[in-house]
Amino acid sequence: MSSIAENMKQVRARIAEAALRAGRAADAVTLVAVSKFHPAEAVAAALAAGQNCFGENRVQEAAGKFPALRPDHPDLRLHIIGALQTNKARDAVRVADVIESLDRPRLAAVLAESMAREGRRPQVLVQVNTGREPQKAGILPEALDDFVAECRESHGLPVAGLMCIPPAEEDPNPHFAALAEAAGRLRLGTLSMGMSGDFEAAIAHGATHVRIGTAIFGNRPAL
Ligand SMILES: *Cc1c(COP(=O)(O)O)cnc(C)c1O
Repeated sequence: MSSIAENMKQVRARIAEAALRAGRAADAVTLVAVSKFHPAEAVAAALAAGQNCFGENRVQEAAGKFPALRPDHPDLRLHIIGALQTNKARDAVRVADVIESLDRPRLAAVLAESMAREGRRPQVLVQVNTGREPQKAGILPEALDDFVAECRESHGLPVAGLMCIPPAEEDPNPHFAALAEAAGRLRLGTLSMGMSGDFEAAIAHGATHVRIGTAIFGNRPAL
């Protein structure tokens, strides 16, 4: 078994155990395998191991790696999880099934326009800056309700849920709890939270999607 297949198996087992510990179904959590910076061969190994949902940071990289795989893998799901420039929004709408990084009003407007032009409506998640970090993307918690309303009502965007990346040096638990509370309040079903180092905690707080790179593909090659 390739090490990617072996890692995948272990990560899946840990996801299922964490879900069961939280009193949730073993299949309640979707694994988004984050293949950013890894070559197409790594994606192929994961596909061969039964993985069909992937996350990429950069639209250009995603557009280079994934469209060619779709004919042979009709159930492929691609999530864009990184900061999205408005001039890449249309490409993102073309390649993605889910855009997890909606983080500002201007991007909401451009995504809506791109969806209308492309005739394609990937789901969107609103990224929340739960740690209020100045350098980090995301809507501040106090602005979230108005922003979600604007996305839905003014732009007609298919907002399916929320995403967060807790501050690297902090206990992630309060951040996961806050995101889950906000999703409940806004009646949003998708909660993307948890990475290689903290996905079990995220699942305990109700994550429906965990974004895992390193634990599957190993350390990312330097660019
Ligand atoms: C890279 C990345 C991940 C994966 O992180 P790992 O620690 O390698 O599992 C998850 N989410 C986002 C937004 C990322 O950029």
